[in-house]
Order: sequence, then structure tokens, then C-alpha cells
Amino acid sequence: MKSLHDSISDLKGVGPKKQEALFDLDIHTIFDLLTYFPFRYDDFKVSNLSELKDQQLTTISGVVAAEPTVNFFGRKKNRLIVRLLVGRDVIPVTFFNQAWLKKQIEVDQKILVYGKFSASQKSLLGMKILKGNTSERFSPIYSVNSKITQKTLRQLIKDAFKDYQSVITEFLPQWIIKKYRLESFLSVIKNMHFPKSPSDVKLAKRTAKFEEFFLFQMQLQTIKNQHQKDDNARISADKLNLMPFIDKLPYRLTAAQDRVVNEILADLHRPYTMNRLLQGDVGSGKTVVAAIAILATIWSKKQAVMLAPTEILAEQHANGLAELFQNLGINVALLTGDTPQQARKQILPRIKDGSINLVIGTHALFQDKVKYHDLGLAVIDEQHRFGVKQRRKMREKGKATNILSMTATPIPRTLSITAYGEMDVSVIDELPGGRKPIKTTWIKSAQIRTMLNFLWKHLKNGEQVYVVVPLIEQSETLDMRNVNDTFEKFKQEFNPKFSVGLLHGSMNDEDKKNVMQDFKANKTNILVSTTVIEVGVDVSNASIMVIFDADHFGLAQLHQLRGRVGRGSQQSYCVLIADPKNEVGVKRMDVISSSTDGFLISQKDLELRGPGDILGNQQSGIQNFKIGDPIADLNILSTAQEVAKEITDNEEWKQLDENQELIRCLKILNKNTSFD
Ligand code: ADP
Ligand code: MG
Repeated sequence: MKSLHDSISDLKGVGPKKQEALFDLDIHTIFDLLTYFPFRYDDFKVSNLSELKDQQLTTISGVVAAEPTVNFFGRKKNRLIVRLLVGRDVIPVTFFNQAWLKKQIEVDQKILVYGKFSASQKSLLGMKILKGNTSERFSPIYSVNSKITQKTLRQLIKDAFKDYQSVITEFLPQWIIKKYRLESFLSVIKNMHFPKSPSDVKLAKRTAKFEEFFLFQMQLQTIKNQHQKDDNARISADKLNLMPFIDKLPYRLTAAQDRVVNEILADLHRPYTMNRLLQGDVGSGKTVVAAIAILATIWSKKQAVMLAPTEILAEQHANGLAELFQNLGINVALLTGDTPQQARKQILPRIKDGSINLVIGTHALFQDKVKYHDLGLAVIDEQHRFGVKQRRKMREKGKATNILSMTATPIPRTLSITAYGEMDVSVIDELPGGRKPIKTTWIKSAQIRTMLNFLWKHLKNGEQVYVVVPLIEQSETLDMRNVNDTFEKFKQEFNPKFSVGLLHGSMNDEDKKNVMQDFKANKTNILVSTTVIEVGVDVSNASIMVIFDADHFGLAQLHQLRGRVGRGSQQSYCVLIADPKNEVGVKRMDVISSSTDGFLISQKDLELRGPGDILGNQQSGIQNFKIGDPIADLNILSTAQEVAKEITDNEEWKQLDENQELIRCLKILNKNTSFD
């Protein structure tokens, strides 16, 4: 019995060599081959000259008006010119290095030529002469490698379709096809490979994309539902228990904070381990939300940890949380790489016996030596700073550790659906009231004087300034300002009237701490720094952020850096200095200076630079689609996600008859996931 999941070697004419070539294209089964869709179609439809745009690829039809001429030039180069009578126009068609075509062309003969049109010269750069064959007028182009040709692949697909079309069964349940007006799987395959017109392709593509996204989402949802049911994961404290604490906060929670607190508490209440991503723009108040979840955990007699990527941030959290939890009888410990051996010796046993309720720290928290009593919750701040392995290590520190990951890098929906599809997401989409949006200006480096004058004015008002520079080391290849140079220049400009501090990653932690403390206490007016200040640092009197070579940063990072100001009640500013070298660079600077919406910024950044740059390639999980484009086809992607959720939310979905073909398909596609 034939099946789409047969190996391609079952196809006649596919020996070891062809099989290897197909493996390189990630084609292993007939299913893979039949869903290996063309990446474009050459449309050889004959156009009218009057409709053509400049540089458009087109086919024109005409009569050869004169004997073609050939010129030889340079070394081994030649140019063949054919004058073609098209209606009343004579169009010169130039072929480069195809002098041999001359033999095929006769005067007064009618020919079809494919090429690129130049509107200004009314001429054509010829690429191909077409024979009278109409079936070639609209033809699929596949991406191939050096081991296999376009022609061979086309033939294989044709053969496979012929042999297997009778066993192409629908894997989508009928109700989905009806509800979203999709085509059958059979006609998708037929119309993608052997279309008669562009509109055949257009319709088939819509369904093909849906199918691809849907299968992917089904796999994600299934992985997600595999999280084992575990009563240990349950945090029993609920909102009512926590109200007295929430009411005593020095401010009222924003509606968005309140909503995500509810989402998190409900999740913690379930007997499944939580795996939730909390997204919120810089300054949206994620810390207090985490604090509430931590308190719920501790009041349910479990331990909590909060993991931060830097010493500075860990310490800031330790102080902040200790203050929030004052008089509640909660024992908080700070554990970082910096913690002296002596103190460490005292802390570790107290973590192990459970007398410490909350541990805050850096990478030290998931070292083997650190043993927990009953770890109920791990909060991972700035989670994108930690690798997958590190996050897993943290999770494995407890029997059933709930994870709350936090990030200020607003992840566009596209990416959160694909890369983070296996996490639940909560979003704080509102800033606490009373804050004025930061005003951002972009200047060229020639205008630095204006910026310095601007700083003088604000420093005299008692405000503080951050200056950020991309690199620490002087680099010969990169034309970027050195942080030490900048520090010297700022001292020359502002000393002795105003004091300037210096902070960078290669300083020792003691020095870093002192520099930060001086800035926080307003002892230094200007802080020149590398991006070490990027993360979470909170100095509300700082109202100006100057960023040198801003075009060397990602937009999300600029947005995050900029979020260091605008934390107090005064108007804050961000001055970006950049001389972008290309169009994309200019666009990026325009985007960041005209918007303060982190989600919009990261969506634009994604469109301008591609996903790899934003999340790092292996994390982005976005490249692997064959036909769907998660950025351009976001609507189809989210519909596919909704449908996949709708199906898997029904606990009995695997028993339903209508899903049997889908399950078979998923089992074969994803051998790592158990569907039993
Ligand atoms: P982020 O989301 O960037 O981590 P933080 O948690 O550091 O933001 O909060 C930024 C500042 O806003 C802190 O000083 C915090 O005390 C304050 N804050 C948090 N929530 C509120 C609120 N609802 N109203 C007023 N201020 C708040
Ligand atoms: Mg924070």
C-alpha cells in the first residue's frame, strides 16, 4: 500500500546519488517532495509595451526587423543586438555573451523574448528566447543545489504526483477547511506545482501556508501539553491572601499589572508547572508583579529565587525586594559570584534547610553547590540574557519549579508565536501614570556641539546625564568611539563644574558598585558607560541619555537603553548620535526617534533586519518555514495558532475520528514528540 510517507527512494529513477541530493534539500519522503514548493514562478505572459514599468521582467513578442549584429569586446565578451518590431516600435534587445543565439534568429521571424525592460531607453536586456510552447509561459522555479537540476526536480515531482495522487489524503479536519474556506490538500499540491495561472498559485499558497503553520503549531501545542501534571507545582496562596500586601504598596497597580498578576496567580494555582513569559516595556513595573508571585510562593511554604544577569541588577533587586517585604518576616539572601566565601558558607546551609525564603542573585544561583529546600518559583529577569541551558538548570533545581521569565525586549507577536509558542505570555502594555514620554532626537556626529550646549543647560538645572558608547577597547577596524576617550573628552568639557563618572564591563565589581552608588547619590552628574547600564538600572534623577554610534545598536537595545531615563516626573530626553551608512540605517534611526512604543519598534526592527539579529539565530526559531513567512503572513500564523489551541484544548482530541489523519501526520513529522 502506497503512502505519502514512503521514502523518496521508492520513486523510480531515484538511486543513491539522487537520494543524497534530495536529502540535502531536506527531502526524505514523498510528502517532503510534494510539499517542496517552488520559491517563485516565471511568468512569460506577453506584455503590452505601454503597461511596462522600468526594470520590469517581462516577455515581449515581436518580429525580427533586421539581421542581428554581434560585437566582441573586452576579453571573450560579446553583445548580440536584435531589433524587434513590436507594434509600431522598434525595440533593441541586447543579449550579453550569447552570440550563439544568432543562429536561431531569422529576419521577419516572430519571436518571444524574456528580459528586463528599460523604460527610458525603450530597450530590453534579453535573457531568454522562448519557443512557441505555451506550457512554458508560467513555470515554477525551485531552489536547487549543484547536485540536482531544475529539470530533474520538476520531473521527479511530476512522477511522484502521478504515482501518489490517489493516496493524498486530507490531514486537516473538514470543519477547518470549511470554516476558513481552504482548498483540499490535493488541489494545493496540484496548483502549487502545475498552475495554469498566477491566480491558481495565489489561492493554493494561502492554504499551503496555513497548513505549514498549523502543523508547526500543533507540534508546539503538543509539547506544551506534555508538561506533566504535578501537584507539587501548585502554589495555593491566591489574590485574596495577597490583597493586604497589594493595598499597602506606595502606589496602585496599573490595570495591566493587575491583569497579569491575575494571570500568573491563576497559573500558579494549577497543578502544572508554570512556564510563563512576562513582557513589559522598560519601566512598566515588572518587578512588583514578580514580587507578588514570590510572596504567593513563600506564603505557600515554598522557596523562591530571582535570577538577574548582572551583579548591579541583582543587588538592586535584593535591596528593592527587601524593602517591599519589610516586616513580613521573610528572609532574603543575596548570592552572587561576588559573595565572599565566609558569607557563602553561612548562606548555603540556610538555603538548603529552607530558613531563607528568597534568594536573589546571578549565575551563582544554579551552581551545583547550591541546594534548595523546596523551590516553588524561579523568576528570571531579563531572560533573554540567559541561554536555554541555564534556564533549564534553574528549573531543575526544584521538583516542580514554576518559571516566570521576564523581558523588556518587546518581542513582536510573530516571534512570540513561533519562538515562544511553548510558553504562555503575559503582557504589561501600559506604563504607570504621570510619566512623560521621552523625547528622542537623532543628530549627526558633526552636530555634537549642539548636544553639549544642551547638556550644559540641563546640568545647570541639577539633572543627570548618561552617555553610552558601544565599545570598550580601541579598535582599529571599527570606527567607533572608545569609552575612555569619551570619558576624557567629557571631563575636558565639563570639569570642574560638573563631575563625570566612568563605568564599563572590565572594571571590577567593587569599582562598578561605587561608581553606580555615586551616580545614584547624585555625586557624579554625568555617567559615561558602555552598555553595562542597559539592564534594569533605576536612577530617577537622570533625565538625559546620550548614545554615541547609535546605529551600531539594535533598535530594541536602543529602546531599552533609552528606558534608563524618563523614570522621574521631569521631561526626559534621548540624543542619538549616528551617521548611518545606508538606507536601512537611516530608517532605523527614524523609527526609534519617532516612536516610544517598544512593540512597534521591535516589529519594525524585525522587518528591517530579520529575526536572527533580534533574538540570535538559534533562538529565533523562525527561519524554518518552507512557504509561510511569519512576518508577512502573521494573520495566517495567528489563525493557525488559534485553531491548534482550539483542538488541543479538548482533552479528548486524540480520540476523535476527525483527527486521526492529522495525528498520523504529526507522528511521522515529529518523531521526537510522543502523541500517545
Ligand atoms: P521594569 O518593568 O522596567 O523592570 P520596574 O519594575 O523597575 O520596571 O519599575 C519601574 C519603576 O516604576 C519603579 O521605580 C517602580 O517602583 C515603579 N512602579 C511600578 N509600578 C508602579 C505603579 N503601578 N505606579 C507607579 N509606579 C510604579
Ligand atoms: Mg526590570
